[in-house]
Amino acid sequence: MYLTTAGEVVIDHEEDSKARLAEPAERDFALARAAERYPELAHLMPSKPRDAVTCNLCSGRGRMTHIQGKILPWQDADRSKPFIYCPECNSLGWTVIT
Ligand SMILES: [Zn+2]
Repeated sequence: MYLTTAGEVVIDHEEDSKARLAEPAERDFALARAAERYPELAHLMPSKPRDAVTCNLCSGRGRMTHIQGKILPWQDADRSKPFIYCPECNSLGWTVIT
């Protein structure tokens, strides 16, 4: 996966398929990870539309954790615990009702 100078995300790690532009959800996720890892890329972070709502699944955290058999929104206090990125909002913490 790589980022073009135009800010497009290209997926090139799939077996038996050619490099392709990322789908919107893949792009959002990739840019959010890039912004998290490289602060100089923070401007590429998908901007939150005015009609966006806080993600119900992760309560806007963008991450989920597994506590006592339950999948719950990740909290700052869980920093040392394993987490998964929220599949509902692609880790952005918000969604747009379509
Ligand atoms: Zn979410």
